[in-house]
Amino acid sequence: MRLVLLGAPGAGKGTQAKKLIEKYGIPQISTGDILRQNVAEGTPLGKEAKGYMNAGKLVPDEVVLGLVKDRLKKDDCKKGYILDGFPRNTAQAEALDKILDSLGISLTGAISVDVPLGDLMKRLTGRRTCKGCGQMYNIYFSTAKKEGVCDKCGGALYQRDDDKEETIKKRLDEYEAKTAPLIGYYKNKGILKSIAGTGGIDDIFAEVCAAAEGK
Ligand code: AMP
Repeated sequence: MRLVLLGAPGAGKGTQAKKLIEKYGIPQISTGDILRQNVAEGTPLGKEAKGYMNAGKLVPDEVVLGLVKDRLKKDDCKKGYILDGFPRNTAQAEALDKILDSLGISLTGAISVDVPLGDLMKRLTGRRTCKGCGQMYNIYFSTAKKEGVCDKCGGALYQRDDDKEETIKKRLDEYEAKTAPLIGYYKNKGILKSIAGTGGIDDIFAEVCAAAEGK
């Protein structure tokens, strides 16, 4: 299974990807997570990416493509993977096709998780993420049992720098302008499945699994 998860920031791609990992035993490749890790560690790449991320802009393609190429070479990718937050524009999608072509493989599907714009703001401003394991919570919809502490690993919950209101607006604009056209890109290739990203997490997950299995 080699899947692309598409959807606006806050559509729940990360949450669904984490459930897919558990069910299918394949890795989630989140370019956002890899970039945030580099920022946290203060690597040269992280220093370059930080300004773009905090401004709600896309990090330059060559930076992201380098990361993805390296990640796809790792052994755990042999069984498949879930691409979460990548590709983010047509140039990245075309570059991904080339990488896969050179390996003699292709994507098995692209799943678009659709959420009305009005819901996204509350999801993003309320989002809190665990520093330890990346588990996500929301102060409006799915709170941790103890405030600020992860139920799963006891790690501290924090608000991503780019989940502040002014940055969110820019991220949503970037999505509309650059990433949303990928829905048409994968539709043309005949591998797109669109599902509604509103409702219970488990109900959405059932639809995501059906789409992932080509049902
Ligand atoms: P995410 O966690 O996927 O919402 O990504 C957070 C931020 O990381 C984005 O707003 C971008 O600045 C950057 N980013 C993540 N993935 C990509 C990508 N594929 N291309 C460019 N920038 C990205």
